[in-house]
Amino acid sequence: MKGNILVVSGPSGSGKSSLMKEVFKEVKNSYFSISTTTREIREGEVDGINYHFVSKEEFEQDINAGYFLEWAKVHDNYYGTSLKPVLKELHEGKLVIFDIDVQGHKIAQEKFGNLITSVFITTPDQKSLKQRLINRGTDTQESIKKRLDNAVSEMTRMREYDYLLINDDFNTTLHDLISIAYASKKKMALVDAGEFISTWASTE
Ligand code: 5GP
Repeated sequence: MKGNILVVSGPSGSGKSSLMKEVFKEVKNSYFSISTTTREIREGEVDGINYHFVSKEEFEQDINAGYFLEWAKVHDNYYGTSLKPVLKELHEGKLVIFDIDVQGHKIAQEKFGNLITSVFITTPDQKSLKQRLINRGTDTQESIKKRLDNAVSEMTRMREYDYLLINDDFNTTLHDLISIAYASKKKMALVDAGEFISTWASTE
């Protein structure tokens, strides 16, 4: 496979989706993996763009059909990444970007290892995360509580990631994330070093 993967995780409300949208626009030859979910569509979201929104039954059928590269239950809803388009884009040499949770990251690591560069994005503190979720205005009080509880448990797994970005200022964080995305394409592990060295050493 010629491409590579950038996994971005972090608490819901940390601003990672807006950041990733910008990275996708900036980095040529990149592909943003659209996940499938059973959660309710939020105001302003579009089916097929933000997510593929499906029923619980449909999702479970897809699990059994082996459709997902990884899937997880987050905040009582299913979320999953479909395998086929990801493999196609990797074969075409693209940078494939995943917005997945810590459970999904672990499974992706087991399947793709060195192809992955991972970034954990969070807020400076829990207080500012709560404020952002309230300001977003798309979640009920109960959903905000669930997301905050989940954020605390996600934070305990941030050591599993290559990079940590604290999203205090959007433009600074975006600059850092774009730099990581470009650097991820230059990882030594992506190169067939043996072949490169023998070609390089050839004097003909
Ligand atoms: P939200 O409901 O705020 O869009 O997403 C909730 C959480 O689900 C986020 O942490 C997001 O990263 C995660 N998520 C979104 N898509 C996937 C996916 O395909 N797989 C996994 N494992 N997590 C996902």
